[in-house]
Amino acid sequence: MNGPVDGLRKGEVNPDVSEPLLEVRGLRKSFGDHQVLRGIDATAAPGSVTVLIGPSGSGKTTVLRSLNALEVPDAGTVRIGDVSVEFSPALRGRALQRATTRLRAQSGMVFQSHNLFPHLSVLQNVIEGPVLVQGRPREQARAEGLALLERVGLAEKAEQHPYQLSGGQQQRVGIARALAIRPQIVLFDEPTSALDPELVGEVLAVMKDLAAEGWTMVVVTHEMRFARQVADRVLFLDGGVIVEQGPPAAVLEDPREERTRRFLQRLI
Ligand code: ADP
Repeated sequence: MNGPVDGLRKGEVNPDVSEPLLEVRGLRKSFGDHQVLRGIDATAAPGSVTVLIGPSGSGKTTVLRSLNALEVPDAGTVRIGDVSVEFSPALRGRALQRATTRLRAQSGMVFQSHNLFPHLSVLQNVIEGPVLVQGRPREQARAEGLALLERVGLAEKAEQHPYQLSGGQQQRVGIARALAIRPQIVLFDEPTSALDPELVGEVLAVMKDLAAEGWTMVVVTHEMRFARQVADRVLFLDGGVIVEQGPPAAVLEDPREERTRRFLQRLI
């Protein structure tokens, strides 16, 4: 590796290249004849926050879902920690299943809409992954689950059901659930875009806390203030490629590419 990384300014040293926790090389994905990802290369250092921005349809969600094999890329390598998967048409059947299971265990995913099970309590939702998928002892998972609910400010809601919570609280449970599997990285797919505006702040506040605690995070969001304040790196995608990337001050305040400038201007 140590090859060129898309969108870096000439002469800029990518601070992530030395010891990345996440590494993506040559990621490609088509749906039918629509080529959605056209070769994505990116890295993320341990403890860093990477924010993906770009127009609707540019491929942000597909990148994120490829990182934990919710989408199976046509080509490219995804490495998280010591699990590396090289996707190709040759990787299929049982071998593909094994590879995707290993990769999926490396990351926790927070979806746009929380996807909590309505018939389970808040705590049961949080410990479902550790107990049923990872086979951890229920008592240990309960203790950890309660600690995670405490962390997102919802310990007192543990025995309630999702419908008794506000949208922001449900999304915070979604974050606790993503952390419960003890992932290496946490992936957020537009975690606040389905929320009423007054509920967005509480979710972003939890995400900021996690960033400050040193979680490695990859976040698809339109919340530019969050990107400015919390991101270590911002990646601007358009048409399935990374057009530009760098620290938020560079990409958001002083974009080099016309396409980035036009996108940011439309947001104002
Ligand atoms: P973004 O997150 O930037 O809005 P997406 O990654 O969601 O973009 O989508 C990129 C393109 O891929 C869009 O044109 C979308 O319609 C298409 N796409 C995404 N998922 C699927 C799918 N499962 N089947 C067909 N097309 C898809």
